[in-house]
Amino acid sequence: MPRSKRPIFTVQKHQATHLHYDFRLEIGGVLKSWAIPKGPSLDPSVKRLAVEVEDHDLCYANFEGVIEEGHYGAGPVLVWDAGWFEPLDANQGPESLALMLHAGKLEVHLQGQRLRGGFTLVRMKDRPRQWLLIKQRDKEARPGHEVVEEFSTSVLSGRTIKDLETAVAARTLETYRCG
Ligand code: MN
Repeated sequence: MPRSKRPIFTVQKHQATHLHYDFRLEIGGVLKSWAIPKGPSLDPSVKRLAVEVEDHDLCYANFEGVIEEGHYGAGPVLVWDAGWFEPLDANQGPESLALMLHAGKLEVHLQGQRLRGGFTLVRMKDRPRQWLLIKQRDKEARPGHEVVEEFSTSVLSGRTIKDLETAVAARTLETYRCG
């Protein structure tokens, strides 16, 4: 399959009322989204709570900037990771992703700059919007390592959350409209 046809994923670091990482997977023409308070991990022994949130338009994948005061999620957002993904099972095409999502267990291979290899996203029993994101044990696993501590910058611009806040204060940040 040509690389351009592979679905995209993005992870946005979002300093709202509470810092979190928005993990988004392109499934069924939208970005299915989860808010991960502690961010993703490459340590297979770590299970990260991922709270299912509203779908986002595909154009939001590259959004980096500041959500204005008075809007939901007000605060700076940067693109912490970006790339493509596919079902971990090589026999499954992208069309199987919606079924896996519905069944409450997604096993995917991520090909980002910081997140790579197999990941499991599994819905918790009796908690319909709460999932766990877990790194699989493969050559990309980094036991004992916290990738969100290693990298704090945007993969698009190299900016940090602080840089965005500074740009807002200086009124030099461009505005962005999705769609
Ligand atoms: Mn968010």
